Amino acid sequence: MREPRRAAGLASEKICRRGTASRSSFLLLLSALLYFWPSASVSALVIEDYRPCFHAYQESGGTLRVAWRQFQENGTPHFLVMDPVRVETEKVPRRDIERKSPAGSHRWEGTPFAGALARYSAPPHPLQNAGIRRAEGPAREYFLTVDLCPSRTPLDRGFFRKIAGFAAESGTAVPVGVAASGLWIKNHPEDFRWLVDLGRAPAGGLRITWINHSYSHPFDPSAPVERNFLLRPGVDLSFEVLEAEKILLQHGLVPAPYFRFPGLVSDRLRVESLREWLLLPVGAGAWMGKGETAKPGDIILVHGNGNEPRGVRELYRLLDRLRSEGGRAAVFLPLAAAITGQTAP
Ligand SMILES: [Zn+2]
Repeated sequence: MREPRRAAGLASEKICRRGTASRSSFLLLLSALLYFWPSASVSALVIEDYRPCFHAYQESGGTLRVAWRQFQENGTPHFLVMDPVRVETEKVPRRDIERKSPAGSHRWEGTPFAGALARYSAPPHPLQNAGIRRAEGPAREYFLTVDLCPSRTPLDRGFFRKIAGFAAESGTAVPVGVAASGLWIKNHPEDFRWLVDLGRAPAGGLRITWINHSYSHPFDPSAPVERNFLLRPGVDLSFEVLEAEKILLQHGLVPAPYFRFPGLVSDRLRVESLREWLLLPVGAGAWMGKGETAKPGDIILVHGNGNEPRGVRELYRLLDRLRSEGGRAAVFLPLAAAITGQTAP
């Protein structure tokens, strides 16, 4: 495992500036209101010096952790930390891990996430649909992912309500991987806040895993596929990847170690770059908008940005069928379970 390289140019990115002590009491009051507002989706956090890193260490009980991003949050050093066995991530202040014992790289290499990362970044490198597409082991469940590519249409709130309603029937939240592009988040602030709140509400019905879908999601309808999406000449891959994560962190969300390529289009160079940044490409076993039928174990792809009604209709059909068969929310599992095989919610 090579140590992930640091992305160049981050220090020069334009960033928000922190408030100063000279600001008026009104602004202080406003800051306090934003901080304590029930919706933490208000963009209130300043994320600076954001870059990849690799530091394996162990918790006091011996469990392995890997710090894979480092950054300043409102001026305080933080890491994004991964549990590579359960494939879960969290945000941790640097002071909390400074005294932890380092762990050998052999422990990292033996984890489910490192194994999946190695397998899904190895040849062949298909132009379309690279990465994990279905559960690694036998599975009766499905893995639902929803893409939010830049769009002029509003969020399909009815779609998310339908999923939440499906969950309500059993009282168990439905795990959903939301692949959000940075531009979609920026251009749909109300929809984004609504979705974040739905995922956080105790009875909201959704348990969201936030997947990186690039910042700008480049696309040229007239360009051939091999020179389109992130393969377009001049695209700054490190910016596209890291800026999208920063936006999630600015909103108080924690990015998962997954990346969905825009258009599901990639090549060896991009996949290997993602590997160095510890991001697992997530393809699709069933892109429902293209009429692909989902089989148990598949990672399902639908669009929740209002741009692909056919996929949404197909998913509704699947929900109806699962309901008629007696299935409930437990028929969907979080993406991590596709790697670890652990089905417990
Ligand atoms: Zn997309």
